[in-house]
Amino acid sequence: MTTEAIVIIGSGPAAHTAAIYAARANLQPLLFEGDVGPTAIPGGQLMFTTDVENYPGFPEGITGQEMMARFKAQSLRFGTRIVDQSVIGVDFRVYPFVLTPSSGGRLRALSVVIATGASAKWLGLVNEERLAQRGGGVSACAVCDGALPAYRNQVLAVVGGGDTAMEEALYLTKFGKEVLIIHRRDQFRASQIMADRALKHPKIRVLWNTVVTDVLGTDYLTGVRVRDVETEEERELAVGGLFVAIGHSPNTAFLEGQIDLFPTGYIRTMEPWRTSTSVPGVFAAGDVMDSYYRQAVTAAGTGCMAALEAERWLAHQGLGESPVLETAEAPAS
Ligand code: NAP
Repeated sequence: MTTEAIVIIGSGPAAHTAAIYAARANLQPLLFEGDVGPTAIPGGQLMFTTDVENYPGFPEGITGQEMMARFKAQSLRFGTRIVDQSVIGVDFRVYPFVLTPSSGGRLRALSVVIATGASAKWLGLVNEERLAQRGGGVSACAVCDGALPAYRNQVLAVVGGGDTAMEEALYLTKFGKEVLIIHRRDQFRASQIMADRALKHPKIRVLWNTVVTDVLGTDYLTGVRVRDVETEEERELAVGGLFVAIGHSPNTAFLEGQIDLFPTGYIRTMEPWRTSTSVPGVFAAGDVMDSYYRQAVTAAGTGCMAALEAERWLAHQGLGESPVLETAEAPAS
């Protein structure tokens, strides 16, 4: 079994920033970017975003996919070894830690950065996923996509009744001519202050007790089919943008029982402004530990913090000088 100085799990801005810092610290990181599958692409949530216009340093904007290709290229440039596999199991009760890659086998790690992100929840409608993947007017992030020209002066719909839905609807009022909040119940889950703000806004209209049953449009969204859950009446609404804001799920299923998680599944970090977790030597970065900001730039910031903390932790254990114990070979992918 090989022993790695630092294993980074994830492939979004947090994971690659951690890799860039760890590689430049000569820790020869091994990064598991995740399996490629019909519904999985390495690169994190930016892979589902069209233009990124709020990441500093890109005044003209950049597509999410191009940005992630650049993050990856920068990780590779400094010697990160990247494997297209997931980590499907961990044993943090032993040290060095033992990790199980999806291709089988096992490896040991002296330190681990978990940056597996969170996935937006979707309604589960066929057209929804197809149009979201091609930037066809369906999104799970108004702050990322709402300012795009295609949404200007359109009727925009937001699904959900929590704080995120309120925040997204309020944000979208800057661009759309009307914003419809489509909520499945007759009251919001959102905090009173956020709900009041949305309810008082002249551009926002709420469709209570309403669910989206279909997303319409071949190449680009043309509207949604909705059903009133009380009357069972169905109708079509013409909308130029659909923003699904029904929550996120952190990608932590593989950590169950190994590390402290919040009841919501997010990783608990031990101190404010630190990425250390309940397991010394294991650090968490990005959306998997942050349900609040959830931005590429904040994820990258915590990735940097995690790598610096890991480097200092290894040095403190006397492992900083020559950390790779056996081989620097990546497992076969
Ligand atoms: P959330 O509080 O879990 O709300 C999710 C909303 O989506 C709920 O209204 C839920 O309906 C609805 N929903 C869930 N599944 C659905 C489905 N399949 N179809 C239709 N509707 C569905 O999630 P969130 O709004 O993302 O907030 C997550 C956390 O972050 C919360 O603690 C929130 O306070 C916090 N947050 C805070 C701020 C802020 O303070 N500015 C901003 C954003 C988020 P039901 O109500 O019927 O369950």
